Amino acid sequence: MIEVSNLGKRYGTLEAIRGVNFSIKPGEVVGLLGPNGAGKTTIMKILTCYMFPSFGTATVNGWDIFERPLEIKKLVGYLPENAPLYMDLNVLEYLSFMAESRSLKGNTKTERIEWAVEECGLKSVVYRGIDTISKGFRQRTGLAQAILHDPEILILDEPTMGLDPNQIIEIRELIKRLGKEKTVILSTHILREVEATCGRVLILNEGQIVAKGSPEEINREMKGEVFLDLLLKGDREPAGIDRVSGVRDLLKSSSPAEGLHQLRIALLPDSGAEEAVFDWAVKEGYKILSMVPKRLSLEELFIKLTREGRE
Ligand code: ATP
Repeated sequence: MIEVSNLGKRYGTLEAIRGVNFSIKPGEVVGLLGPNGAGKTTIMKILTCYMFPSFGTATVNGWDIFERPLEIKKLVGYLPENAPLYMDLNVLEYLSFMAESRSLKGNTKTERIEWAVEECGLKSVVYRGIDTISKGFRQRTGLAQAILHDPEILILDEPTMGLDPNQIIEIRELIKRLGKEKTVILSTHILREVEATCGRVLILNEGQIVAKGSPEEINREMKGEVFLDLLLKGDREPAGIDRVSGVRDLLKSSSPAEGLHQLRIALLPDSGAEEAVFDWAVKEGYKILSMVPKRLSLEELFIKLTREGRE
């Protein structure tokens, strides 16, 4: 269990994290989603006890980050951003070094390395210099070092960054497989990533959580954000649709051709506005050529939430 309470981090005058609260249950795969600079890495560094927060606190399996950082480090496997590796070692030498720094010795060390190599599909490159293997294999090597000590919790900072589409699929599969047994927190600014791998998502913007839940829950929460795309035919410019019962706002209006009017309106949830809009169009003498309800996709929601923050 991870509990984060009113967490904050200042770098000089910059408040990178501003009072963040969340909890993560054992076995969950949670995505920290946000644009560059949202504070994802900072949260991960705090949870891995790489740095302390400026205010607030967090506990990992009941241990306070201020009081029990060593115990927490044993419990957590961390893949930092850009998988920092030693380029002058081969994969096996690197894993061996990392295993020793995790105090793994003798048979246990050998078994753990063999397991991580197998799990991360590194067999074909174990004797290759890290400087000569592909980015995908480097990322797997980074993941292998993160799981060497069989941690309960995996914290992965942008695990698929810089990979080609095939490598991305492979790493996602690997994360999903690991996520069956472990608690995983991963950060990303790629929406597909959270939809593909995470059961829950925390959307961060400028150091604050702006939405949380499963991708479906977030969409449901934004139930108010139901749109209607209308294509009307009629001689007059449409006016007054924003005064129709249940219509929250007229968002877009254009005339793609003479006598055609394309409108996007935002509706209040469960207001029966569709019917009222239909009646309005008929009364005003328009022919409705199309009327398409639309919900925000997670992608549109992400853009909306993060833009609103900036504005
Ligand atoms: P990215 O996706 O670009 O990695 P992020 O969401 O991980 O972004 P952070 O790296 O946590 O964001 O950074 C949050 C903010 O804190 C940014 O404005 C960043 O420039 C700033 N920041 C991060 N580390 C430091 C530091 N050591 N000193 C000063 N400012 C920092």
